[in-house]
Amino acid sequence: MADVRDYIRTIPDFPHEGILFRDVTTLFGDARGFRMAVDQLLHPFIGTRIDRVAGLEARGFILGGAVAHQLSVGFVPVRKKGKLPGETIEEAYQLEYGTAVLEAHVDAVQPGERVLIVDDLLATGGTAEAGISLVERLGGEVAGCAFVVDLPDLGGRRRLEALGVTVHALTAYE
Ligand code: 5GP
Repeated sequence: MADVRDYIRTIPDFPHEGILFRDVTTLFGDARGFRMAVDQLLHPFIGTRIDRVAGLEARGFILGGAVAHQLSVGFVPVRKKGKLPGETIEEAYQLEYGTAVLEAHVDAVQPGERVLIVDDLLATGGTAEAGISLVERLGGEVAGCAFVVDLPDLGGRRRLEALGVTVHALTAYE
């Protein structure tokens, strides 16, 4: 039985020297791999109430859109600053060097809705934490965060679980 890991490619020295980049484009590009990833991402949430899926720019859009379609719920794009056309709220988060800002439309989540957050990879958890904060500030409840890859050494899972959020990842690279 194949594993999502079989479809993930590792590129050394991208985007900087010394970084091992886990490239999921090869997973997305394979018919079986992509379907397996989408099915496994939503699997723990079957039978639970999910009202919307929020995808984190940009690879979270590819996975999150497919998960939303599969669950027959709406999709919320959480985008980098300046990309969304309507009224937004924003949340800053820490990068390795400097800060970045994520935004969501103010009407993208209705109060009380349960939102599943999807992204390709969990590292320090800063990106996902900003997504969680946006959903909660809009009055939503985070049903969980689902990732293809977890990098446990970077502490993201612990950070999100400390917020009381359920973390689901399909594979981990130590
Ligand atoms: P964090 O905020 O958890 O430190 O970083 C996670 C974000 O950075 C995710 O949105 C993810 O797409 C991106 N990212 C960081 N490293 C990698 C990597 O090795 N592979 C991929 N595909 N994305 C990465």
